[in-house]
Amino acid sequence: MKTRHILSLSGGKDSTALALHMRDKVPDMEYIFCDTGEELRETYAYLDQIESYLGKKIKRLNSKATFDHWLKVYGGYLPAANMRWCTKMLKLRPFEMEIGDDPVVSYIGIRADEDRTGYISHKNNITTVYPFKEDGIEYAGVMKILRDSGIGLPPYLEWGRTHSGCYFCFFQKKIEWVRLLEKYPEDFDKAQAYEKSGDGGLGRPFTWIQGMPLSELRKPENIAAIRSRHEERLRRQRAQRGSRRLIETLAGMELEDDSPTACLICQL
Ligand code: SF4
Repeated sequence: MKTRHILSLSGGKDSTALALHMRDKVPDMEYIFCDTGEELRETYAYLDQIESYLGKKIKRLNSKATFDHWLKVYGGYLPAANMRWCTKMLKLRPFEMEIGDDPVVSYIGIRADEDRTGYISHKNNITTVYPFKEDGIEYAGVMKILRDSGIGLPPYLEWGRTHSGCYFCFFQKKIEWVRLLEKYPEDFDKAQAYEKSGDGGLGRPFTWIQGMPLSELRKPENIAAIRSRHEERLRRQRAQRGSRRLIETLAGMELEDDSPTACLICQL
């Protein structure tokens, strides 16, 4: 059976740079994107841009069932870092269904300067490769690839969101929720509408952020407190950061958060 070469894009900078980097190296590469149906709006336009550069279609894989369907199946429990049913059902499952039993080489955009692992498929027929590690491409190399191609950074970074993925992703920080409220209030409202009071007797409330429903977060006094804590954290980070990070700080741009808890398939 012929081995398939698959690169899964998330809409984030590293998987994008990897797709650009691999364009001429693996001619029969298949590019895919697992669409939850709840992605950040600008991700779709960004993917169109990448597609033109690659000269190849990015296959959009949709879960047969929506987020709302799976939410019901999981008893109304919003996904959380320790219960990532969204990644499993809306990202990983469509990816594995697309692959089936075919032998596959899966290309992952973890950089040479990173030491992170993540939530990726471990099916026996999948061999995972890390070309940036093999080619010694670090953060600066990724930025160069994006710049030289003319594709640039993912547009969500401009308004201070640090990750690709769903607009309601529970991995986002409180300050990012504030920014979502400012940038796309209707998406914030939709996220808020998913929250419910009570915990169904199982000990966890139906909120995206533990201990703070979005109805609370959006109050002006809470927004002010979140901003002030964020500014303070930035001040401390600026004092501690090395030269690479300092360059970005000086440019007024925040970094993508390389938190090891984030899902690689959603946010690389
Ligand atoms: S982006 Fe966040 S909410 Fe969306 S599938 Fe991934 S982990 Fe879940």
